[in-house]
Amino acid sequence: MTATRTPGLPVVEHGSLISTHPATGAEAGRVPIADAGAVAKAVERARSAAEWWAALGFDGRRARLLRWRALLTERIEELAELARSESGKPVADAIVETSAAVEHIDWSARNAKRVLGPRRTRTRLLVAEHSGHLEYQPFGMVGVIGPWNYPILTPVGPISGALAAGNAVVFKPSEYTPVVGQWLVDSFAEVVPEHPVLQAVHGLGEVGAALCRSGVDKIAFTGSTATAKKVMAACAENLVPVVIEAGGKDAMIVDADADVPAAAEAAVWGAMTNAGQTCIGIERVYAVAPVYDAFLAAVVDKAGKLRLGEEIGPMTMPAQVDVVRRHIDDALAAGGRAVLGGPDAVQAPTIAPTVLVDVPEESAAVREETFGPTLTVTRVADADEALSKANALPYGLGGAVFGKRNAIRIARRMRSGMVAVNSSLTFVGMGTLPFGGRGDSGFGRIHGEDGLREFAVAKSITVRRAPSVLPGMTFERTPAQVKRIVKALKLLYGRH
Ligand code: NDP
Repeated sequence: MTATRTPGLPVVEHGSLISTHPATGAEAGRVPIADAGAVAKAVERARSAAEWWAALGFDGRRARLLRWRALLTERIEELAELARSESGKPVADAIVETSAAVEHIDWSARNAKRVLGPRRTRTRLLVAEHSGHLEYQPFGMVGVIGPWNYPILTPVGPISGALAAGNAVVFKPSEYTPVVGQWLVDSFAEVVPEHPVLQAVHGLGEVGAALCRSGVDKIAFTGSTATAKKVMAACAENLVPVVIEAGGKDAMIVDADADVPAAAEAAVWGAMTNAGQTCIGIERVYAVAPVYDAFLAAVVDKAGKLRLGEEIGPMTMPAQVDVVRRHIDDALAAGGRAVLGGPDAVQAPTIAPTVLVDVPEESAAVREETFGPTLTVTRVADADEALSKANALPYGLGGAVFGKRNAIRIARRMRSGMVAVNSSLTFVGMGTLPFGGRGDSGFGRIHGEDGLREFAVAKSITVRRAPSVLPGMTFERTPAQVKRIVKALKLLYGRH
């Protein structure tokens, strides 16, 4: 539209947010920008929509969500092309991303009743005259704030959990990928036309901040650790609970009995897919000495065959190119070597695969999230050294282990929320598994049973079935009854 546009940078024009392809600058679409008033209105609309949606019950919601899943699947090519047009990612990557999103909608829809529905709890002897009942009720309205790197999967994870649990959702997509965000909302409205159960509010960071302060009952945030702290601060004002999916610096450990070609294939995929702009991307590898040389050679061979514009798209966010350049320069200045790529690989808006070795552990390329198609490979003596290096950072999102005899033991000892053994990133696409990190990578979980409970309030109910044998919780108890309580306690719990 305008000659001065920087490809990939969102443009605000006449109340619209215009989204462009990061390499060509071609317009991908435009959406209306919301102000604080519009956010408040969306939340108000969501309030009544939430009541209607909750009243549909698990079965009614399941039917709608499964229809949404089918619609996404039917139109997967259209959605993937849209994701390509505004994020620059290869269509094949967007297809794989959508397949994981579909999995989470399907699993949440089918399992919400089992996980969250009413159940009786076991009787306890001291209060045996009461039955216990537990159910998980929806919060009401959930705000979802999403990033640009996986504009389909990252919001659909919390959205599918929140919707299956019976909440309405107001979604703030990243300013870099609003058109995909709006597409998701519009497609949901096709299967749920009655009420605005899922809405989008668009704009820059301040729209996300307004959403945090809008009266929503819970915020699900996915994005950088720095923004996560701002989101928590805003939510703290009204004690709004949050689930935080933040950044990472995931490591892969390659043990002595690993299948080396398979490890190299998974490292290259984990590091380079989506041009490395992956929160659970493999950014560091620690390979034990006996397999180090063979592993490194295989990584360089495989990564060197990736083609710019085919497997590796442009960087979605122009500013990220400078971060990647700084990490590469810093690693080389500190004594590291580029065995593939290097400073010349950075040709904005694309970055060619870069593999760095001999990089000191204290350098930015090892400690900070790079978010580009780069990988450090470090030789270690054994799995213990690999673990102590892998676990040395404040981040703790995902990880990978290649090996046979000790692989699962090593996986357990990684300080992270998720680990893939003999593959990379796999856990993100498994509906049964919770997704989330620890430390600077955040807390709380999306996906799986924990992901459903994250969007529900545990409601405990007791129902009296008979008069009390040990009536402690009344002023009408007698000294003799208190004595009986003491006797029962000693009998039940006084010995071990
Ligand atoms: P940001 O933190 O910059 O932005 C995330 C979202 O927050 C965007 O929608 C952004 O809006 C919004 N936002 C910005 N400022 C505020 C504010 N003050 N209050 C509320 N919301 C705000 O992250 P990116 O979009 O750059 O995404 C990349 C990051 O996301 C990486 O660190 C990556 O590791 C992480 N990530 C984590 C995942 C996980 O599951 N753990 C998955 C995917 C990514 P706007 O874009 O308009 O500024």
